[in-house]
Amino acid sequence: MSVKINPEKDALFITDPQNCFLPGGVLATPKGDEIFKVLNPLAKKFKLVVASQDWHPPNHISFKDRGGPWPPHCIQGKEDAEFSPKLDQSNISLVVRKAFNPDEEEYTAFDEHTRLSNMLKARGIERVFFGGIATDYCVHDSVIGALKGGLDVYVLTDAIKAINAKPGDEERALEDMKEHGAKLIMSKDIVEK
Ligand SMILES: [Zn+2]
Repeated sequence: MSVKINPEKDALFITDPQNCFLPGGVLATPKGDEIFKVLNPLAKKFKLVVASQDWHPPNHISFKDRGGPWPPHCIQGKEDAEFSPKLDQSNISLVVRKAFNPDEEEYTAFDEHTRLSNMLKARGIERVFFGGIATDYCVHDSVIGALKGGLDVYVLTDAIKAINAKPGDEERALEDMKEHGAKLIMSKDIVEK
């Protein structure tokens, strides 16, 4: 399968490429930093590259001391929340922050708060290519959000990494995205017009 990029209608979306989700971080995905060798060169082929940033206040509802599943991570303004130094940020033109309401979890960058689907469609974008972290949480939920928002979605399976808190989470997330209509492809399937 090969997919030709149309710079006017296609966007690349990089989910949460942040220190906390990479090896050495508090919520590290195994081999998470391998995504950058795929995403950095790929980003140069797109006219519009969007990245999301998990951006929690210190008292966020997803943290364990409030009964949530996670240790404190991606706290606003901390190094942990910064984009990885391995990410080439020169191609990124839009950053969408999410999950900054203390009382609300927000795994998706595509919802009624960000209105990102509408914003992209207003710019003429029809297809979004997804990479980033983590396959089983924010990539999955953002993909579903984008599909619900009326966008055509391609998931780059060699440019995402999973947390796998429970064995099999990664496979279930991939299967579910596919069932919802996302196309799973490899970065090598993408060709320039
Ligand atoms: Zn988070």
